[in-house]
Amino acid sequence: MKRRKFLKNSSTLTAGLISAPMLATCNENNTKTNGPDEISTGIKPIAICTWNFHNATAKAWEVLDQGGSSLDAVEQGVMIEEADVNNQTVGKGGRPDRNGDVTLDACIMDKDGNCGAVLCLQNIAHPISVARKVMEDTPHVMLAGKGAEQFAYEKGFEKEDLLTKKSMQEWTEWKKTSQYKPIINIENHDTIGMLAIDKNGDISGACTTSGMAYKYAGRVGDSPIIGAGLFVDNEIGGATATGVGEEVVRTVGSFLIVELMRQGKSPQEACEEGVKRIIAKNKDNTDFQIGFIAMNKKGETGSYCIQPGFTFRKYSEAGHVNNPSDSFIKT
Ligand code: ASP
Repeated sequence: MKRRKFLKNSSTLTAGLISAPMLATCNENNTKTNGPDEISTGIKPIAICTWNFHNATAKAWEVLDQGGSSLDAVEQGVMIEEADVNNQTVGKGGRPDRNGDVTLDACIMDKDGNCGAVLCLQNIAHPISVARKVMEDTPHVMLAGKGAEQFAYEKGFEKEDLLTKKSMQEWTEWKKTSQYKPIINIENHDTIGMLAIDKNGDISGACTTSGMAYKYAGRVGDSPIIGAGLFVDNEIGGATATGVGEEVVRTVGSFLIVELMRQGKSPQEACEEGVKRIIAKNKDNTDFQIGFIAMNKKGETGSYCIQPGFTFRKYSEAGHVNNPSDSFIKT
């Protein structure tokens, strides 16, 4: 806890030292403005996320536009997907494990390197907010299973049934034919990872998922693992992942991408290198999907993804509310 306080104090100093060139900020309609925040810091607030979650990035932008912190932006942004029962890979409505239980994974990381995560959490609709409570109210980084659930109730979160009728019907159907062999990330590929930089130039990230559909009970992927599903170093940038969590964990993917940016690579180059490292270890297996998005301290962004059959896609251009899915182009 003492270390957190120390980091908080020193980051205030760091923020004052930012010397980024003057950049135009973008408002919701993507028009250029030169607001007072930009004049004082030269920073362009921006939020990006995996896939095409317009409502989530719009919410994050709303927070940033009102002068909010990147931490609040990413939390509130991903909560939109956690609450959306039509998104069957995040939060309420998520597809269950093979026993029919919806188990959620999430993590969050702030500008000071503080982080919190929940693993295999049941009955709570907003795991990202529980992860934030772990970060802010405990000396720990991760809480799992029943302990995480108990902690959530202590913090005032309400018990909810997360298994919707639709997800239950699909699971029942799946059990008839699948022989408990889930097709990795074809049945499930919409984890939301979000990165934001605020007007002070501070970066935060969040990642939340119901994990792989029909996974083994107790399976945890990359999404709640700091360094794998998400990593932020406020001096350099942040990265977050979607796709087959086991592959991302093996390469400590998001940490790798931030380190590649530290070595001088652009966010785009770093994402491409991260995906290539995973491919190099899987030459004979093309049947999976991995995607990374990244952002550096200047607010530059990148993304790269591989789909089953080794179709590469890259993210083409940055905006204040990015949408890699819309912007992926075939190379
Ligand atoms: N990365 C998530 C997991 O492995 C799944 C996904 O992104 O689709 O749990």
